[in-house]
Amino acid sequence: MAEVLQVIELPETHVRIVVDGKKTPLLRRGGGNSFRCGACDTVLVEDAWSWEIYNLVLRCPDCGAYNEVGKPATEGR
Ligand SMILES: [Zn+2]
Repeated sequence: MAEVLQVIELPETHVRIVVDGKKTPLLRRGGGNSFRCGACDTVLVEDAWSWEIYNLVLRCPDCGAYNEVGKPATEGR
């Protein structure tokens, strides 16, 4: 299952961990879903659970967009 991340503006006054890299995926964990850039659909995270990358900001190497996991999908849209 793949989830699409939300593109965000990087808040200057709010310090968060930004995962930046030149290659995709930026992160690969032991199991779970893959997460795609909300702007260009590049897979940024593979095999991770949303709670593992929650609160991380993922900078897409392809398009430069900042992405975050956002609210769990189970909360409705
Ligand atoms: Zn992108």
